[in-house]
This record gives sequence, structure tokens and C-alpha cells, in this order.
Amino acid sequence: MPDADLTAKILEAVDANFDAQIKFTQELVRRPSIRGQEATAQDLMAEAFAEHGYEVDRFKVDPEVIKNHPGGSPVAISYDNAWSVVGSWRPNNPTGRSLVMNGHVDVVPTGPEDMWARPPFDPVIEGDWMYGRGAGDMKSGVVASLYAMAALRRSGHMPAATVHMESVVEEECTGNGALSCLARGYRGDAVLITEPSDERLMSAQVGVIWMKVKVRGVPVHVSVAGTGQNAIEACVPIWSALHGLEETWNRAENKHPAFSEVAHPVNVVVSRIEGGDWTSSVPAWCSFDVRVGLYPDVKVETIQRQLEDCVAEASRGHPFLSNNPPEIEWHGFLSEGYVFRDGEEMALILETAHKVQNGDAELGRSAFTGLTDARFPGLYDGTPAMVYGAKAESIHGFDERVSIESLRRVTGTIALFIADWCGLQSL
Ligand SMILES: [Zn+2]
Repeated sequence: MPDADLTAKILEAVDANFDAQIKFTQELVRRPSIRGQEATAQDLMAEAFAEHGYEVDRFKVDPEVIKNHPGGSPVAISYDNAWSVVGSWRPNNPTGRSLVMNGHVDVVPTGPEDMWARPPFDPVIEGDWMYGRGAGDMKSGVVASLYAMAALRRSGHMPAATVHMESVVEEECTGNGALSCLARGYRGDAVLITEPSDERLMSAQVGVIWMKVKVRGVPVHVSVAGTGQNAIEACVPIWSALHGLEETWNRAENKHPAFSEVAHPVNVVVSRIEGGDWTSSVPAWCSFDVRVGLYPDVKVETIQRQLEDCVAEASRGHPFLSNNPPEIEWHGFLSEGYVFRDGEEMALILETAHKVQNGDAELGRSAFTGLTDARFPGLYDGTPAMVYGAKAESIHGFDERVSIESLRRVTGTIALFIADWCGLQSL
């Protein structure tokens, strides 16, 4: 850790920059970067990296590169406007250990806006909370990394090693944005992802599979409904079967050790549905999306086969589906889980930084039943990836919010971590 004087100076610099940090976070939240529309948020990040004096690399996510990588997930939409942006600090004579800081600017849909108390892309601040879609998950985290670096500069120093700040898209559906940065050669001796983690270090995360199931029925007039086949109602037994599989995976004896303390680690959620054409016609079609969690150290293909078998088995017991089996499509995440391993040296430094920032409070660790982009460096590049960020509430829900004071603490912790991990050079 930097000595007491320098530590104080760095934390003062965080405070001195903090209004600007919050203002810039709000500006980023105002860009409604739902899937396919992230480009203006990425423009803003590219401008900010340049203004802060970093080298900027802005490049398109290339589906061909993704297709040939073991960590790639299916590309189901056009990537014509899917950009990755990396801001790099490269000292003339690097002496320390390098670092990648990663975050995503893509956000999930808002849902019905009338169910929000405030407009989702108007980042109002009330008390300790900044509201808005993406305020917590995780535009505030992307900005915190940038301002942790800004605090070092304000204290008269910069890291003594290369630092790459990645601003990516596609985190919420495939991870292909973060993967594009790794595939382009961005790597570090450590990786820090500033997802909202309630100021805890993520010890493990699940993997995720996105499955689409397409069911076809026989449409007839509802007056003779018994002669048709209802594609929507035919889905119900398939859902039950999938939840049966979920129950098995969550039994104590089947839990991954990293999740032994978690009550229900693996969630199977039927999360989107479409089907039917007319209220007085027996529906001819239905398709539904399922998000499936899986444990680390399990191959994605293993779970895909179990899911296929499960759907096939449920269909065999159904009078109509037995002869008209549903079709399965993999249209997003095909992602392994990840356990933070072999990174105790970096974790110890983060722990110390966290303690210095927080009056000696211990750094807690917890396993996450969702996923982050940490798996890419962790699984495919041999670099342990830490996930550590601010306290947020209602992410993916209504009135998503991030705690401002938590953000200030996290920014200080990250600045101290960079100072120790990379070392510092005077400006
Ligand atoms: Zn996130």
C-alpha cells in the first residue's frame, strides 16, 4: 500500500473529483444503451478516455472471431453497431504489474415504464441513491474505474504498468463484447471487474445458458377446440419438467462446493414467451425463452444435452408433442461458470485496500447466482478475475439504483488497489 501520506492524498483526490464522477455517471446513464443501441454510450466512453489522456481503441465486435473462440456465445443479432472501447495507459518504462479493468455499458430492457417511479433513463439523485437503468449494473462501475485512475493522476502519480480500461457491450446476453477485447489481445496480470457486488469480492459465479423452445400446434376454430392442438398449453408440462431438473441440480448433494452455502444456486426461469395469433383460434405456435444457470466446472454441452433430454422426455408423455417434438434453439449465453482461484495475491491487495478505505472492515466474499464477464480472463487466459463494486439495488428491476457513498468508497479502494498492484510513477 502507498504510505499514509500518499494514501490520504489519493483518497482526497477521489473526493475532489467525486462531483465530476457523479455527473459523468449520470451522463452515461442518460444514454439508453439497451441491446443494439449501445453505440452512443460507447461514443461517450471513447470521448472520456481520450479527454482523460488515454489511448483509445474503438473496434467492432467481429462475429467471426467470436465463432472460433471456445468462450463465444451464438451471435443472434447484427453486430454492425456493436463496439468495444478500450482506454489504455501505457507508461514509458513499465516496472509494475499490468491490469485490466472491465465493465459493460449495455443494459437490460426497462419493462413497462409506468411501473417505474422515475423515468428509467433520467438519473435523478435522491438521498444516497442515484436511480436509473444501468446506474447500478453497471455504468457507475465503468466510471468508477476511470475516476480511480483520475484520482491517482490528481495525486501526482500514474500506474507504473500498463492499465487497460475496457468498456464493453453484450454482457447481458452473450459476453461477446468482453471476449472481443480478450481476443484482440487485451490482457493483464490481473483483471478487475467493477460489477455491483455490495463491496464484496465475488468468490464464484454460475454459468448461464439461454434456450428457446419452439412448440407447434394445430390451429382450428375455437368452436371445435378439441380437434386442434393448443401450442401454448402444450408448454406447461415442459416447464414442469425443466423445474424438475432445476430441483435436482439444487439438491444439497449436487451443489458445487463454491455454492454449498447458497440456498438455491441454480435458477431455471421461463423468462419470455410469445405465441398465438387470435383470441378465437386455437394457437398454432408458441415459443418461450428459458434462462438456465449451471455450476462452475461443468461443461456447457453437458447441460445442453440434459436440457434436450428433459424436453424430449416431457414431450414423449404428451399426446400431441410425442409426434411433434418441440425445436430447441440456443440464442444467447452458452457460458461456463467460474470460480475465483489462484488469485490470492491480488485478492490480498484488494482486501488491504478495502480495509484502508473502510476503517479496517474485512472484505467479505460471496458466490453469485448470476454471471459476469470474469469468466473470459479466468477460464480462457489463465488470469484470475476479481469482481468488486458498489452497492446497488433492484438491478434488472424497477427503480434500479446505486448508493453514492458506496461508489465513493469503491472508487477509493480501486485507486489504492491500482497503486499497490501496478506500483506508481510520479508525474
Ligand atoms: Zn452487470
